[in-house]
Amino acid sequence: MTVGPAYCIAIDIGGTKMALGVFNNEGQLQGDIQIIPVSFDEHKVADAHQMISAIAPYVEEARQRYSPLIGIGLSICGNINKETGEAVLIPNLHWRGLPFGSMVRNAFQLPVFAGTDVRAAALAERLWGVAREAQFFAWCTVGTGYGGYLFLNGKLYDGYHGFAGPFGHITWDEEGYPCGCGRRGCFETFVAGPAIARAGQAAVDAGHSPLMAELSQGGRVTTQTVIQAYQQNDPAAVSIIEQVARLIAINLSGLVNTLDLEMIVMGGGVIQACPQLIERISHYIRRYLMSDEARRDLRLERETFTNSALYGAAADVFLRSGVINEALGA
Ligand SMILES: [Zn+2]
Repeated sequence: MTVGPAYCIAIDIGGTKMALGVFNNEGQLQGDIQIIPVSFDEHKVADAHQMISAIAPYVEEARQRYSPLIGIGLSICGNINKETGEAVLIPNLHWRGLPFGSMVRNAFQLPVFAGTDVRAAALAERLWGVAREAQFFAWCTVGTGYGGYLFLNGKLYDGYHGFAGPFGHITWDEEGYPCGCGRRGCFETFVAGPAIARAGQAAVDAGHSPLMAELSQGGRVTTQTVIQAYQQNDPAAVSIIEQVARLIAINLSGLVNTLDLEMIVMGGGVIQACPQLIERISHYIRRYLMSDEARRDLRLERETFTNSALYGAAADVFLRSGVINEALGA
């Protein structure tokens, strides 16, 4: 057990960029978050060696400024073995079976604690955020993808193989759109950013939204365009966002009816751009909840941090190294 402050480096690796920050064991960011692009080789595989070179100056600076530096926390947008740090399958980076955790450990000679980003985000919300008192909650992200992680009975819930949580891949229409997971018609394909953009494009193509047509200036309609039009009360955009809210409410009510959750913490790019979505989901979800108790008690909250996964990568370091002594299943 460390007396006094301890520090760690947290790195959140997404599909196009990395975020890096130094944290103390109270969850306070030291200085600024650094954003570093992920470099890809000619086969669209993320170049792990270049990524490690790109973070090296920040690791060296942190080593000189902060002591004791307990280790490096890695949060990654895919399936990573939290014991070995092996990137089992990271579709966005085209990594399969890459020993990324040990590469980072060898490069910097610091302990490395790795985990998937949604798990990290749930951990940060439970340790330092809005879910601090919660015993049964779900983290839910709406962005390029849709899904999350579960915290049940006072612990993170990893499941039998460590695959628990991706409720965006519950099938909604078995003959629906292809999904990144290789199957068809997953919930994610109806509610995540690309689905919003697709619905916006369809509205423009059908001539239903002069505003979205104008905002996209002849190019493809993006998720941002639909949200921008929604903020201006464009009827087509309102109908798209209302439909997304209703579908997410159906999906999340299934979790609440099954698991008797007290809270859902919502984050991700779409929620950041359109926080009103939380109120709309909260409105619709009451229709689909089974018990009066759930209708009365269920809370939908916005994420506490601008990047909860980054904070969670830091939380993971302190919990797993024993600097913070709480048994959250970390
Ligand atoms: Zn899927």
